[in-house]
Amino acid sequence: MDYPGNLFVVAAPSGAGKSSLVKALMELDSQVQPSVSHTTRAPRGQEKHGREYFFVSQQEFDSMVLGGAFVEWAHVHGNRYGTSKKAVEERIASGTDVVLEIDYQGALQIKRIFTNAVLVFILPPSWEELRSRLERRGEDSPEVIEMRLKNAAEEMAQAREFDFVIINELFERALFDLKAIVHAQRLKFTAQRRSRADTFKALNII
Ligand code: GDP
Ligand code: ADP
Ligand code: 5GP
Repeated sequence: MDYPGNLFVVAAPSGAGKSSLVKALMELDSQVQPSVSHTTRAPRGQEKHGREYFFVSQQEFDSMVLGGAFVEWAHVHGNRYGTSKKAVEERIASGTDVVLEIDYQGALQIKRIFTNAVLVFILPPSWEELRSRLERRGEDSPEVIEMRLKNAAEEMAQAREFDFVIINELFERALFDLKAIVHAQRLKFTAQRRSRADTFKALNII
């Protein structure tokens, strides 16, 4: 189905800079909205329920799965994460662009359901830099960092399934690349015909 809003899916190994890039994109572009996922992970220091995530118990997550509330969900780094239908469908149907920051398993599920979704994979410039970003962020224990690095190889092997790849070396450059992807979607024929209907009509383009 062709929705008027674009659906962007951004995935990356933990520490590659996905959240920082998506946050910066949204500060510059009010037409893109985030989808707030549900997770069974505990909140980190500054995280707030309903802002970064809806933090739920295993039981609450189970009942949402059973109730068909998720458009996708997956096990990631020992916790469960899911995107609710509510967070996506109504908004892209009403013409808002939505960005999902989810893992590759979720991204591939989304692509099967929303075939026009645009999949973007963020890579770090090197293993050394990935490790040092996780350490500098200082939000995860050493054991959790090791697990996330171990999982990163498997995650990065999935980059080939994505439409676009951004290497987040210089942050400003990577942000520019992400903006370019968003901008290009808005220049597609069907999108332009929708957003510039008057011009198309005046020029007799159907
Ligand atoms: P981060 O890696 O530092 O962003 O740490 P998080 O604990 O916030 O996320 C861990 C992983 O779960 C990341 O790969 C996220 O992209 C992924 N994730 C977050 N929300 C969702 C979701 O709704 N669905 C799926 N499938 N994965 C998610
Ligand atoms: P993710 O959401 O992919 O796990 P974050 O956005 O939390 O990653 O970024 C991980 C850490 O790396 C954060 O401390 C962030 O400030 C830092 N970071 C992000 N992009 C860059 C970059 N291009 N250069 C240096 N540090 C970066
Ligand atoms: P767009 O409309 O494509 O989303 O954004 C284009 C904007 O990015 C313009 O304001 C343009 O001047 C700016 N820009 C062009 N080149 C670069 C660059 O190399 N880095 C950054 N940060 N911005 C750039």
